[in-house]
Amino acid sequence: KKIIIAIDGHSSTGKSTVAKQLAKKLHYIYVDTGAMYRAIALYAMRKGYIDESHFDQEKLEKDLPEIVINFEINPDTGLAEALLNNENIEKEIRTLKVSKHVSKIAAVSAVRRKLVEQQNNMGIDKGIVMDGRDIGTVVFPNAELKLFMTATAKDRAERRYIELKERGENVTYEDVLMNVVNRDHIDSTRKDSPLRKASDAIKIDNSNLTLQQQFDQILKLAQT
Ligand code: C5P
Repeated sequence: KKIIIAIDGHSSTGKSTVAKQLAKKLHYIYVDTGAMYRAIALYAMRKGYIDESHFDQEKLEKDLPEIVINFEINPDTGLAEALLNNENIEKEIRTLKVSKHVSKIAAVSAVRRKLVEQQNNMGIDKGIVMDGRDIGTVVFPNAELKLFMTATAKDRAERRYIELKERGENVTYEDVLMNVVNRDHIDSTRKDSPLRKASDAIKIDNSNLTLQQQFDQILKLAQT
């Protein structure tokens, strides 16, 4: 029987790595909800609605009906990539620049309403692994399996730093650490569905686990 697997947790805890592996193994659909918030952040940045010193929330809210976010499968990798109004923006949304603004965008109630509705519809046929911040609490409160992943900020920043460097971004470890800590703060203190562990979610602290150990542990949970 196909189920819904909800994976939540702080930034850069390896949620998406685990989610992708699970989806592949179980032949499920994988949905990265962070990509959807990042796509809206990129839209707002391009329009000049948000930068270091200002955020014109009203203008963004007005445009929301015109912003269409989808996914397309990359035939070479088999992985879903994000589309913003039909433009593939998968690479652009992963930059530190987008990470710096995304949590402010994600704190806007109208943004969350739009994306949560779309995410909810994606789960109609089950057989889905979705990762984010509010999947087990808001999007799929009845998900059959809920995981909540954590790790120390230092471990998470190290992981993200290596990733960004590999992609050729010119960043410092301190920048990345500051971003991770900053997003944790905004994500857990926003008034609308703040990041928290669902009471029935299983907590996975991956600071001391290898990816393989972690995956084996989770696959067992998904198959029982
Ligand atoms: O998962 P990722 O780090 O790509 O998410 C980027 C940001 O999007 C998070 O820091 C958070 O502010 C927001 N987000 C959210 N709810 C989700 C997924 C992501 O608020 N379900």
